[in-house]
Amino acid sequence: MYYNRLSDDLRRTYGAKVYKLSLSSGCTCPNRDGTLGRRGCIFCDGSGAFAQRGSMEEQLTAARRRVAAKAGEGAKYIAYFQSFTNTYGPVERLERLYREAMAPEDVVALSVATRPDCLPPDMLALLETLSRQKPVWVELGLQTIHSASAAYLRRGYDLEVYDRAVEALGTRGIAVVVHQILGIPGETTDMMAQTAHYIGQSGAWGIKFHLLHVLRGTDLAALWRAGEVPVLTLEAYIQALEACLRHLPREVVIHRLTGDGAKRDLLAPLWSGEKKKVLNAIRAAFVRDDLEQGSAL
Ligand code: SF4
Repeated sequence: MYYNRLSDDLRRTYGAKVYKLSLSSGCTCPNRDGTLGRRGCIFCDGSGAFAQRGSMEEQLTAARRRVAAKAGEGAKYIAYFQSFTNTYGPVERLERLYREAMAPEDVVALSVATRPDCLPPDMLALLETLSRQKPVWVELGLQTIHSASAAYLRRGYDLEVYDRAVEALGTRGIAVVVHQILGIPGETTDMMAQTAHYIGQSGAWGIKFHLLHVLRGTDLAALWRAGEVPVLTLEAYIQALEACLRHLPREVVIHRLTGDGAKRDLLAPLWSGEKKKVLNAIRAAFVRDDLEQGSAL
């Protein structure tokens, strides 16, 4: 059994356990502020579940406190701007925040989650400058390569936009991590594997897998209540995940095998709220099936 786990990759690179410090840039999202739409992606509850408040110094302190029980002496950290579109704002303001966040010596990298249509030239130039100081990762929420699925999710940009962003980031030495959602209604396991294959060939350094899950307050929840959203069983999720991993080059780093949304707002599938159990089931299945990342390439 083999897949290229992020924790192993980080340990090899930094010789220590590395923890993420979830920080807030205060940015909104063009899919929410009316630029592209007001209701956001169909699954997004807009809560910024992991967002912190306060000055960057206060945020860093609070974020360190959240992982303190796990992180021992000598741990390293990644400054992680996770919620919303963290390059969607004035470059000068974001530069200040990013620099402050990545300044502590034990912060070894900066990770910025955003959309590929929110990377203007001055933002790319800033990220390139910062990457000379410490590694910079940019996370892109592609979710799927299939246009009907992207329209269903209300993603709001075309695949070519993603292609151009990955290329622009890659040529500037910035590592790209791509999010993929498994279980979009109408997608077969083969279609999900095609998305993983595309991501793997696109130049991405890493990938994060998520299950399509229904959160209270989203438009997806209304459709689900109307009986229009079939959700995956755990077995079907694992099967899709294995198919995707088999279609990814061995060196692509697997950042996440399943999502970790706010449990209190989870409507379906309820099994996905038991994150520990889900991860145990996934790992047991990988061993049972002798899963080998890249074996289908
Ligand atoms: S998922 Fe991301 S891009 Fe979509 S509406 Fe929410 S914050 Fe915006």
